[in-house]
Amino acid sequence: MALRRRGGAAKTNQLRALGVGRGAVLSAMRAETVIRVRKGWFALTTVSPLERRALIDHGFLTCSTAAMIRGLPAKDPRHYHLRANRPVAGERSGRRRQKFATTGASVSLLDMVEDYLHCQPAEWSLALLDAIERQRVIGDADFCELEERLPRHLRALLALRSSIPESPLESVIRYRLMQAKIRHVMQHPIGPYRVDFLIGHGVVLEALGAEHHANRDAWERDRARTIWLKNAGYEVVEMTYNQLDDWQQVLSVLKKLRTYQLRR
Ligand SMILES: [Zn+2]
Repeated sequence: MALRRRGGAAKTNQLRALGVGRGAVLSAMRAETVIRVRKGWFALTTVSPLERRALIDHGFLTCSTAAMIRGLPAKDPRHYHLRANRPVAGERSGRRRQKFATTGASVSLLDMVEDYLHCQPAEWSLALLDAIERQRVIGDADFCELEERLPRHLRALLALRSSIPESPLESVIRYRLMQAKIRHVMQHPIGPYRVDFLIGHGVVLEALGAEHHANRDAWERDRARTIWLKNAGYEVVEMTYNQLDDWQQVLSVLKKLRTYQLRR
């Protein structure tokens, strides 16, 4: 129980402060609910391999690695980023030397966001901020504290956060449309539907992230919606995560369609 409250992992002295003695730890280890990860560190057997690895490396997960553990957006699932009190051989780790708070094998949410914004591309940082705003996992006071810690260009990113995007893909597309100075409205109602992006008056851009669109029913629903929108006179462009790598092509399609719609 105490371990769960500490985020799944804790040091002997942290456990002792919570009133858990050596005997309780030993009996939990015998019952195979707790393991000793390294000297003085104990974890629930349910902690993820990444969290275990961080503890063995004498560090704490941060940036997108910690975000992933919390179910928040991460660009590259292989990115392994630690904050540590001393350098970890062969691993990238946070360089900011100030004290940081931890829960279990990760740094605190605020420290995680700070490292993420410094390390990840701006569009994915916005995806993280949007997700946090949508799930309300950080309060306004914490956002203020974060703002004080950030340099100006990252503060500008913080100010762009919005609870409207419903997936990381939508956040990344939103960022890129802003960069390309393409005006758009998000989650715009058209007939019985709400489209992800309405560009100009007649171009609809749909973000088909696998998280909401991959099952059979969703696939059928999306096709029905596309034919309805086309019948109502809209041009529909669909975009997936992999197509983020083809952004120039998508952009050129969007621009062509917009001009075409204007001429009609
Ligand atoms: Zn990182």
